[in-house]
Amino acid sequence: MADGLPRARGRGMGESHRRFSQYEAFRCLALAWWLSVAIAAPGPQAAAQQTAVAAPSRTVTVRFPGAVDGVAPSHEVMRQWLAWLGDQGFNIDRCGLDASAGTFILESAAPSDLERLTAAGFSVVDMLDREPLEGGQRTQSQYFNPAEIQSMLIQIAADYPAITHLFSIGTTTQGRTIWAIEISDNPGVAEDEPAIQFNGQHHAREVATSHVVMNVIDFLTQGYGSDAEATDWVNRYKTVCVPMVNPDGVNHVFTSDSLWRKNRQSYPPSCLGVDLNRNYPYLWGPGCGSSGTCSSDVYRGPSSASELETQAMRGLADTYNFAMATSYHSYGRFIDYPYACSNGSPSQQMPEHAVIDEMMRGMAAGIRAVNGVIYSVYSPVPFGGVNGDDTSWYYAHKGTYPFIVEIGTSFEPPFSQVAGIVNENRGGWRYLYSRLGQARLDVHVTAGCEPVEAEVTLTNYAFDTGELPRETFLPFGRWTYVVKANGSYTVRASKPGYITAESTVAVANVPVAVAIDLAPATPPSFLLGDMDGNCLVDGADIDEFVAVSLGQPSGLPQQVLRADFAADCVIDQADLSGFVAALLAGDGCP
Ligand SMILES: [Zn+2]
Repeated sequence: MADGLPRARGRGMGESHRRFSQYEAFRCLALAWWLSVAIAAPGPQAAAQQTAVAAPSRTVTVRFPGAVDGVAPSHEVMRQWLAWLGDQGFNIDRCGLDASAGTFILESAAPSDLERLTAAGFSVVDMLDREPLEGGQRTQSQYFNPAEIQSMLIQIAADYPAITHLFSIGTTTQGRTIWAIEISDNPGVAEDEPAIQFNGQHHAREVATSHVVMNVIDFLTQGYGSDAEATDWVNRYKTVCVPMVNPDGVNHVFTSDSLWRKNRQSYPPSCLGVDLNRNYPYLWGPGCGSSGTCSSDVYRGPSSASELETQAMRGLADTYNFAMATSYHSYGRFIDYPYACSNGSPSQQMPEHAVIDEMMRGMAAGIRAVNGVIYSVYSPVPFGGVNGDDTSWYYAHKGTYPFIVEIGTSFEPPFSQVAGIVNENRGGWRYLYSRLGQARLDVHVTAGCEPVEAEVTLTNYAFDTGELPRETFLPFGRWTYVVKANGSYTVRASKPGYITAESTVAVANVPVAVAIDLAPATPPSFLLGDMDGNCLVDGADIDEFVAVSLGQPSGLPQQVLRADFAADCVIDQADLSGFVAALLAGDGCP
């Protein structure tokens, strides 16, 4: 459905959060809550337990000092307060920081924590109990649960077999399939094209995000053959969508706890759930907004990429070598891109910051053009970085230009708002497609006329923050570099055993092809013209030369090289004179 509306099912919607709305007098609320804990805690130890209460099942929305609804403090003021919060031991995540409202989410705050915050001038706006999304008072049954995502994807693959390839990228600890769908004019087949990815619901409770990703799928499949842009994008690019990275967590949201964020992996004796967006390998570890404590909502897991979901996404990235990847999260209406955290210096920028910044502002402009909704653009987020996130890993380890879009203004907006959120975000991802068709380099590296995996760098950029080299990938020896328009770029290609080569190109505002053929550092020892390798150039080689020049069997790179006297990677008439000369010279092996 290109309009982003849900498949009708089940009960009617209704916003029925049990809200304790607009508490300006925080102390009254904290006191009431404190009393409820006290009443619930039996026995003579109750008083002692009250002060040490560890994990109240509530999530609290807190407003910054000086903020009023709709008018947030400046980024600099927020940055200072967030630094103060960090010093005080609070983990504040970017999912749920609403810069326009001047509010953020605090997980499981103890009464003593809230006392400290209110003393510093913060105020509590809202408290949400952890209840099932489906059932109880929180019924919002039109959001997609894991079974619905699965059945919709299977139906789409059945409806559009010519342009879709549905496949599993992994299985969760509870046995659910993590689905990916490729949309392309040659689905499931390697193509010499840029690839672009969209994913949703790394975090389970961010329930509108899968709707945005499903809308990408709907737009491309339903528009193919009728909508000019959809047709063009399906023909020219490979799109891969993972609407629900974390189906186990989402199931828990629907059945038990609408505010559950992590996956459902257990680590005995008592650890349950890992924050998937802290589990990726780049800079995985302490610092920058992840926790080593498993009860934390930002628990990074026992080791880098320990989680099945993270491994599934890593395998997908290895297969497709995405030029761009967008992770949808909620909420806060902003776009964020690396580096989220760089060697402890959150202000560190990526070497390719300029082009990625341009793209993110284009994405925000595309969103705003739909209905005037403003998404801010941050790099990094003003409230400090995180590590082990997917976007920084995508950039540093995979060379993919990655973005996080924090949609909407709550984890679980009234379902009536979802169509609007989907619509405005369509303006953002459509921009990415149009930008992909503009200034970029399509680099191909060969060696001995065959595509190879080679390290490619733009000498315009210096990598200095632990980035891994970008490598062309097979079967096409391809790398895609999106670059700023109207620039000059030098591509350097290198591979062990070959002479490093460079190519400098001018880029206007359309894709430019860059082809580099690497010469071997040591010339091949075989004799040109000796097609059958018997150390004699003779009549028997003529037949093979003709066959190769006619493209007949020609599968063997050695044969092609031997016949290519002009070393131009084409076997043609011009090579014949060289062949004849070798024949007449009677050269043989030493
Ligand atoms: Zn999130």
